[in-house]
Amino acid sequence: MLVACKRYLEVRWLAPRSVDGFASVEQRAALLRQLGHWRPGTMGRAVASQTLFANASVLDTERGVLVPGQAVLVDGERIAGVGVGLDSAAEARVIDVHGMTLMPGLIDCHVHVTAASAHLAQIAEWSPTYLAAHAQQIARAMLQRGFTTVRDAGGCDFGFAQAIAEGLFEGPRVIFGGRALSQTGGHGDDRGRGRTAHEPGYSYTALSTICDGVPEVRKAVREEIKRGAAHIKLMLSGGVAARAINRGLQCGVRTIEHGNLMDASTPPLFLEHQAFYVPTLVTYSALSEHGREFGLPEDSYRKVFDVLDAGLRALEMAYRAGVPIAYGTDLLGGMHVQQLHEFAIRAQVQPAADILRSATLGSTTSAC
Ligand SMILES: [Zn+2]
Repeated sequence: MLVACKRYLEVRWLAPRSVDGFASVEQRAALLRQLGHWRPGTMGRAVASQTLFANASVLDTERGVLVPGQAVLVDGERIAGVGVGLDSAAEARVIDVHGMTLMPGLIDCHVHVTAASAHLAQIAEWSPTYLAAHAQQIARAMLQRGFTTVRDAGGCDFGFAQAIAEGLFEGPRVIFGGRALSQTGGHGDDRGRGRTAHEPGYSYTALSTICDGVPEVRKAVREEIKRGAAHIKLMLSGGVAARAINRGLQCGVRTIEHGNLMDASTPPLFLEHQAFYVPTLVTYSALSEHGREFGLPEDSYRKVFDVLDAGLRALEMAYRAGVPIAYGTDLLGGMHVQQLHEFAIRAQVQPAADILRSATLGSTTSAC
């Protein structure tokens, strides 16, 4: 499957397993040869020329249909048109993608590109350059899975996003929020029990910062905005309990992440405040299977089971109520490989077309 996004055309394929109409190995190899110089990192700076992808089946995620016999015209970095009989320049390069599917690039609204280990407190002790080396591998793998935009929910900074934008690192476009805000003793307070100091320096690689009360929160928010954060991540009581979710919605939080323990009082508040829901079910299933193996501390491991089943019930409740839902995964360490498994988990509740819409259009409106 080819994956295109609006900002620039990233041509990638997802593993063709078990889905008819995906590119065969031979087709993908032939396409690679045709794409020639289009290497990750150079595409965004390609000379302004036109490429016409002909004979494509285009997955229209808005309508939830696969439309055969389509052409997709790319002008420089932009998709200029999708349809039949498109006008292209005489010198436009034409690539025949007969038998393959083109679709919008996937968007993951909840990632941590710097979460190279599930033991987050350990990451805070790493060198920033060492962490960047790990993070660029994580980001590249996301792109290769078909994700062309990701929203980082804690840890990624302006330097990493800039390195990707300039083609120094391979990866999807990263919309970052800097460090997540946590209260002392809260979800983002990774200090050991005997530790009182919290390193304030920017080269410190923690995913979160600690702030209590209005003046400290205000300052922390301003610091992140100064560094270019596109959003602010608040860790409200761990982010899964109904009371915290409802209060967040009432106070104007625009997207709720995880939300596993929401109850019937929550979906109406989403609708009233025009907020988005970003479930991250795969992280709980991955943590239950592999958490120990990838460094999750024992006390965190035990909590996973409390929220695992509740997550599916929360998704069902939100989906039936018509809450806008975006795609998110929240995977850590070696569990990033399960980024596409969220599709399979949500399929227990939602039709495939709705999940794909969440991972493209739904995520566009919530993340960007
Ligand atoms: Zn997260």
